[in-house]
Amino acid sequence: MSGDDPRRVELAERLAAVEQRVARACEDAGRDRSQVTLVVVTKFFPAADVRLLAGLGVRDVGESRVQEALAKAQEDALAPWPAPAGERLTTHFIGQVQTNKAAAVVGWADLIHSVDRPKLVRALDRAAQAAGTVQGVLLQVDLEDGADAGRGGVRPADLPALAELTAGSEGLDLAGLMAVAPRGADPDAAFARLAELAAEVRASYPGAVVVSAGMSGDLEDAVRHGATHLRVGSAILGARPGVR
Ligand SMILES: *Cc1c(COP(=O)(O)O)cnc(C)c1O
Repeated sequence: MSGDDPRRVELAERLAAVEQRVARACEDAGRDRSQVTLVVVTKFFPAADVRLLAGLGVRDVGESRVQEALAKAQEDALAPWPAPAGERLTTHFIGQVQTNKAAAVVGWADLIHSVDRPKLVRALDRAAQAAGTVQGVLLQVDLEDGADAGRGGVRPADLPALAELTAGSEGLDLAGLMAVAPRGADPDAAFARLAELAAEVRASYPGAVVVSAGMSGDLEDAVRHGATHLRVGSAILGARPGVR
């Protein structure tokens, strides 16, 4: 173990702090830590960081831009290095997907968190079938209900129809729901609403068990409301360079 690489030390400390937050949130919620997957969002950070994180035991990584995800994959950041043979990182695509990038995202992602419209469902279904795979997808719900169209997501009223279309797509596996808490709103209320919607979807599609919610600032609220996947970036990697 090379404990002297300062970036590695920094990532290890931040990861440990987040792990502690997750563990405490699980304890407070009466949930087992194993029910919650920590997805480390590495967008805007280099492949070298992904490798360091893998070395620190991270097994789930998230990216939000197709070109960047593919570039890192080419740099072997997602190869089974330095994990034991047979283990590799699980890849989560969490950003908005253009339909013309459907095949690329299917080729990269184990789970796509951000499916929010029929046209995209059809494009991903075609891409998955062409690739001979069944692609796991989450439906991203717009908890602002259209108030801020910029962040994507299906309006709650349109969720049942989108779930039906997805569940009926041979190339897709409807694995659950994802949401981002609305800016400036109470994440507790937002994730309570998401939990209700997730329960409604599960009533019709029992396999749709994933609830992807919670980021650096609100992961405790998400755990309290049943999140199975947290998407944490800046609390582990630091402030993102440049954009945002
Ligand atoms: C960037 C991003 C995250 C991570 O956000 P942090 O606040 O840095 O933890 C989570 N989810 C989505 C959809 C993102 O785009």
